[in-house]
Amino acid sequence: MNRLASLSMLVLGLLVLAGAARPAEPVGTVRVEGIEAASAESLADEVPSATCPTGTLPDGTVCVHLPSDDDEGNELAEARNGHHVRSGAWTEYDQIPRLPERPAEYDAYRYPTPPGLPGGKSVLSGYDLDRPDESQRRGASIRAVGHGGVDLPNRRGTPVQMVALEHQQGDADVLFTGTLFGTSVVTRHVVREAGQLREYVVLFGHLDSIAPGVTAGTTLKDGDPLGGVGDTGSPELVHLHYEVRRVRDGVDLAAKVKSVGAGALVANEVTVVCDPRNVLPLR
Ligand SMILES: [Zn+2]
Repeated sequence: MNRLASLSMLVLGLLVLAGAARPAEPVGTVRVEGIEAASAESLADEVPSATCPTGTLPDGTVCVHLPSDDDEGNELAEARNGHHVRSGAWTEYDQIPRLPERPAEYDAYRYPTPPGLPGGKSVLSGYDLDRPDESQRRGASIRAVGHGGVDLPNRRGTPVQMVALEHQQGDADVLFTGTLFGTSVVTRHVVREAGQLREYVVLFGHLDSIAPGVTAGTTLKDGDPLGGVGDTGSPELVHLHYEVRRVRDGVDLAAKVKSVGAGALVANEVTVVCDPRNVLPLR
């Protein structure tokens, strides 16, 4: 039995025990890391006799943290990094690197556009703001140094659809439409992260068009159309620039956009750029 299956059985076992102590609450079925188990009772005999502190479960010789509804998502920690911009000046910023437990393979994730590259691949250029200066993206035709998102090349006009983030609460709403990274749509998402709600913004850049009816205040469900792939602000390549940023605590985004303009959405003091693999749903 692999470790995950073993852990899920242990969780079920503990729930059975908890159910015995509090008979008013039925155990029912639980989902642990995507594994559905139909019968908790049949697994009760497999609970090991080792004792572990409340909120943890025995797994072999160690006690592991027990997943709970209050604990959805991961705490994503900011890190400091920087790079030399084209002028040669050093710039520093906060960024949220990919958690080690999130797959590094870009094709493990679901994107707002269908795969547009040979071999069913989606991502041409990935997130590199967590890398050393010399390893970040540079190119003769690329104006920006470093890359805080993923580039998804596709045919012009390919529909771009909303993707609900992992652990997202409710639907996304549109914060801004207009010129930012070329023609762009920026959406706001509330995500449960380590037991608390955090706000994220997602940027869809270089669009050819914005879908009818999509404007600031529009609510978008997973799969809703929001525009078409283009090359506005990026004449080198027809692609979608997809970028995820976590809103800093206490920031009123709508007020910021009103007072400072859309540029506030990508300002380091307002939002922190995040590796999209931390919040994109798996395929
Ligand atoms: Zn990009």
